[in-house]
Amino acid sequence: MHNQSNYKFLLSDLTNLKGVGSKTVKLLKKKNINNIFDILWKLPKSYTDRSFSSEIKNLKIGENQTVTVVPKKYNFPRVRNLPNRVACIDKTGQLDCVFFNSYEGYIKKILPLGKEITISGKIGRFRDKYQITNPKYVSEDSSLIKQKHNTYSLTEGISEKVYNNIISQIIEKLPILDEWHSKDVLKKFDNISWNDSIKELHKPENIRSFKKNFYQRLAFDEIFSTFLVNSEIRRKIKKNKKKSKVINFKKQNSLIDNLNFTLTKDQLKSLNEINYDLSSSSKMFRLLQGDVGSGKTIISLLSAYNTINSGFQVAVMAPTEILARQHYNLAKKIFPKNLNIRFISGKSNYKEKKDILHDLSIQKVDIVFGTHAIFQKKVSFKKLGLIIIDEQHKFGVGQRKKLSDKGGNDCDILLMTATPIPRTLTMTVFGDMDLSIIREKPSLRKPIVTYSKIESKIDEIIKFIKKEIILGNQIFWVCPLIEESKKIDHSSAIKKFEYLKKIFPNEVSLLHGKTSLEEKDLILNNFLNNKFKILVSTTIIEVGIDFPNANVIIIENANKFGLSQLHQLRGRVGRGSKASTCILMFKSNLSENAKKRINILKKNNDGFVVSEEDMKIRGYGDILGFKQSGIKNFKLADPIHNKDLFVLAEKEMKRIEKSNENIARFKPLIKLYDRADVINDIV
Ligand code: ADP
Ligand code: MG
Repeated sequence: MHNQSNYKFLLSDLTNLKGVGSKTVKLLKKKNINNIFDILWKLPKSYTDRSFSSEIKNLKIGENQTVTVVPKKYNFPRVRNLPNRVACIDKTGQLDCVFFNSYEGYIKKILPLGKEITISGKIGRFRDKYQITNPKYVSEDSSLIKQKHNTYSLTEGISEKVYNNIISQIIEKLPILDEWHSKDVLKKFDNISWNDSIKELHKPENIRSFKKNFYQRLAFDEIFSTFLVNSEIRRKIKKNKKKSKVINFKKQNSLIDNLNFTLTKDQLKSLNEINYDLSSSSKMFRLLQGDVGSGKTIISLLSAYNTINSGFQVAVMAPTEILARQHYNLAKKIFPKNLNIRFISGKSNYKEKKDILHDLSIQKVDIVFGTHAIFQKKVSFKKLGLIIIDEQHKFGVGQRKKLSDKGGNDCDILLMTATPIPRTLTMTVFGDMDLSIIREKPSLRKPIVTYSKIESKIDEIIKFIKKEIILGNQIFWVCPLIEESKKIDHSSAIKKFEYLKKIFPNEVSLLHGKTSLEEKDLILNNFLNNKFKILVSTTIIEVGIDFPNANVIIIENANKFGLSQLHQLRGRVGRGSKASTCILMFKSNLSENAKKRINILKKNNDGFVVSEEDMKIRGYGDILGFKQSGIKNFKLADPIHNKDLFVLAEKEMKRIEKSNENIARFKPLIKLYDRADVINDIV
């Protein structure tokens, strides 16, 4: 049975298996398991714990983790209410297992002294020692291995027996697929086939073999299929031929000369990459990625200017009106007066809008700024040559692809994001676009100095603020939302507002999720114009807005935020030439782990570094904006632990792109690893 469509069995319905009725199918569908392939990734229990840690010293407090230890000593106090404890060790440290309401006999049985045992559970810390309370998963070289079957974390209503039955049937019928990888790549995994890899994956004795060839191969398959699809999207877009733009470098450079700063090397490099695309005959679909404050706006406006000088129109879209207006104002300031620059606002009156729409349709307008309103159906351009979209990290691949079809044949697309994620993730999340990256910050910029303060010392903070206000500076005060189930509470921000108002009468304003849009715009504009000094808000302070006069940000309950988010918030200040300060407030003294996190922020002003560290601590699924980006979750691959595989995938993808190889042999790979949203027209 060896042919190209062997893989189709894997995409077939689960009812094709014996003993799988409609009830089971229904239950599995709820878990998004729709076919035979999907259920292959329902993995034996210890696989599913991504945060497997090999050493006690690397455990992360508050996380569910799995670790192998040796029980050393029992401590069974004969006092009521005191828990039983088992001191366990490995080469790197000590961890206590704590049991409430468990019999000694049971504890001795599952944690025999001197044996290597794998346990899992939420990691806590007590009196400077790691501990797990009522460990969830305990196995001695897995007692399950002896029984030769796997334990799965079960879907409600489906027994382990049914799972094992399903999996063993599939393994029995597992088709042999034609190898899709090149010889060189396959060699890296000791030539193990996909088919054999799956078989190994489900062998109980192989649990925890993350480093073995079969596991690596399967993880690589996933990564590579994503990269390949991305590469195909890029190729498809480039196939669209367009009228190339002719860059007027003289005009461009005279605009640059008039700026009151010099562009950084990375800014110039990005501008060159964009110019190259603009003047090519293929459509541009490019992402400009750079940390907050790295100076993306000016680069996008220079690209806009070049496009206009080549006889085209430009549309610039930002997520909020105030940000769009800020870009608009900058364009007004730096572009020559003879350009027709307009702004479409939700508030503009009927006549005004009608005029703009008319002028756009006859190319009387050169460049228009606005929110998504500029892409409404009734807005039509005579000769749109470039769409610029700012701060849209929340667009998924599908949305972006639609975007690339917008604007007609001659229209290039430039997206910007201030989500400085590690390259492995960028290639995964944004790999459908060409990338320009600004790593370097403008040189004159002073780093933001970050402090941590316990809440009880708020008086010191107030004193500090008073000084800053005397110097003419402005302050952001961020309060986290209190979230209980679905109800979101703004009370902490409101309380802080009342408190600060008493100390600084007439100098404080409040912004939260319930503030109306108009009021919000008004408040932000007043803040921008220095009409008051302290802006108290929840985390809704807009991304991207430049408040050059604000140089202090105070973040309450800072432990509620991830590192990347703190870095983004901190990026609201430090955009001007003034020295700026970020104060992270905490309710109580910091744990060792929290101190470690805060130190990363204190030491690094580089968002790329912060996000890499954040990812190591929290896993890649949680870091900023990633969840919302619509990217699927990998089943095995992990951008932290499999960095080398991502690098290999990028290399192989580039090789294939260069050699113009036929990619038909990857069809099963792509079909199986389901990118249905974008692949329909690819294979
Ligand atoms: P972001 O990349 O976050 O969008 P902006 O484009 O808003 O950053 O730039 C932040 C600030 O830095 C702006 O006030 C801008 O004028 C300024 N800026 C941009 N490039 C430079 C540079 N090369 N040198 C100094 N300041 C710059
Ligand atoms: Mg910006």
